[in-house]
Amino acid sequence: MQSVPPGSTIGILGGGQLGRMTALAAAELGYRCHIYCPDAGSPAAQVAAEATVAAYDDTAALARFAAAVDVVTFEFENVPAATVATLAASVPVRPGVAVLRITQDRLSEKDFVRAAGAGTAPYAAISSAADIAAAFEKVGPRGVLKTRRFGYDGKGQRMVGGMAEIVAAWRELGEAACILEGFVDFAGEISVLVARGLDGTIAAYIPVENRHRHHILDRTIAPARIAPAIALEADRVARHIAERLGVIGLLAVEMFVTRDGGVLVNELAPRVHNSGHWTIEACTTSQFEQLVRAVCGLPLGSPERHSNAVMRNLIGDDVKRWPALLADPANKLHLYGKAEARPGRKMGHVTRLYPLGTLPEG
Ligand code: AMP
Repeated sequence: MQSVPPGSTIGILGGGQLGRMTALAAAELGYRCHIYCPDAGSPAAQVAAEATVAAYDDTAALARFAAAVDVVTFEFENVPAATVATLAASVPVRPGVAVLRITQDRLSEKDFVRAAGAGTAPYAAISSAADIAAAFEKVGPRGVLKTRRFGYDGKGQRMVGGMAEIVAAWRELGEAACILEGFVDFAGEISVLVARGLDGTIAAYIPVENRHRHHILDRTIAPARIAPAIALEADRVARHIAERLGVIGLLAVEMFVTRDGGVLVNELAPRVHNSGHWTIEACTTSQFEQLVRAVCGLPLGSPERHSNAVMRNLIGDDVKRWPALLADPANKLHLYGKAEARPGRKMGHVTRLYPLGTLPEG
């Protein structure tokens, strides 16, 4: 497999903030980025050398894009697998379409995690009304009903307690193919970001703690305030899954820490991740630079942190606080260049660093 040297062009599918920060990191290493996204003026296109504004099924635009770039990656996992397969016929796509297919579907993702020997909440597929009773039987009285595809930030999911609620929630979700998961009364939520290079080398960032508000990530605390044995287990599980998946690029593994000190995998994302933004300021190599290194076949950088960190998302109108946030010199502010602050929309984030061994309360 060929490496892609600095000076080359990295194609990125998706135009959001993850693509934007990847393009900025790529520029620091002398790469050009070409963003492919259906929306004009996207956050990523604003900072990239080139942009194609076209639908993901526009085969002529995809062919031109493939001819104009040296390697392709993606910044969100709901890019149609067929788009990626089309591109992969003429240009390397990293991570590859097999990884994308597994992680686009919550059922195949959970089956994969279980087959890799890692724990998950109990779960069952619901493809038709006839499956509901058996799923309820298998999973237990309290659960979370999730659409198998296209869910994010709490969209496409409902907490349910009992058969009647499952039936009602399934109707609300448009009778889409779903999985019913058992409710996990977790002690906390953590994630581990793993990079895997073209040569199979793995580098993992320290496990971090994620706090959600209205199902959207509110803040990430690095490192997670968990026992060393739990951190070790989370690291082992995440590396093992990255290895089994054969990811070239980044993999975020979101996990629940159970009250008895175990870890259960909740979700995989084969890309840079919101819970890794703190690495920009606190680590030798940010997650974005690490993705560039991995997909271009460069040696991975050190994921070592020189500081602890707390990253807070600015959601919707939170972004209006930017003058006060900027006025505190300890805040590192990132704004994503989105014109409209709709509720639930990630507009930016703020990171604060703390000396190793210290973190604020809360
Ligand atoms: P997800 O879209 O799967 O990442 O879920 C979003 C959030 O919903 C998670 O971060 C948890 O806070 C909560 N959640 C999801 N699944 C479960 C579960 N099985 N038990 C308890 N809470 C859950």
